[in-house]
Amino acid sequence: MLPVIALVGRPNVGKSTLFNRLTKSRDALVADYSGLTRDRKYGEGRLGDRDYIVVDTGGISGDEAGIDYKMAEQSLLAIDEADIVLFLVDGRAGLNPADEMIADHLRRSEKESYLIVNKTDGLDPEVAMADFHGLGLSEPLPIAASHGRGVTQLVEYVLAEL
Ligand code: GDP
Ligand code: MG
Repeated sequence: MLPVIALVGRPNVGKSTLFNRLTKSRDALVADYSGLTRDRKYGEGRLGDRDYIVVDTGGISGDEAGIDYKMAEQSLLAIDEADIVLFLVDGRAGLNPADEMIADHLRRSEKESYLIVNKTDGLDPEVAMADFHGLGLSEPLPIAASHGRGVTQLVEYVLAEL
């Protein structure tokens, strides 16, 4: 069974962009619309000779009514079935109440999870990450999914921990 890496985080933080990088496909819906991906989506990736499965999710917005509730449910299921959870936050938008809700869930779930600060292109990574230390998760890892910055190192790092 290949290791399963789930991408979670509130809408618009760049999960589908990272999914496309990790799977080298353009299949997930990427758009400026919040929460366009409304279900889980699976893809296969490879780094060197290591294959893995990536799960994209619609996102947890903290406003769990109707469709947002459905998306949150999918995200929780994806966390459940994952070996590794990459929890993405937006380094430009800063800390958001929904981030704290997801962090609470991950702390309780005791999953192997990593805090990923995305959209650090053009930012000082240290400054972009400063907001997120207070979430009480692992040391944040900076990436820029749309540019690919930090993505290979990230996958190497998390696969090495398995
Ligand atoms: P999702 O809702 O979490 O799946 O987010 P998307 O992958 O759809 O991305 C939301 C928006 O953020 C899109 O406009 C992306 O182009 C943009 N985005 C994603 N990654 C980055 C990044 O590393 N830097 C910047 N500046 N924008 C990004
Ligand atoms: Mg998406």
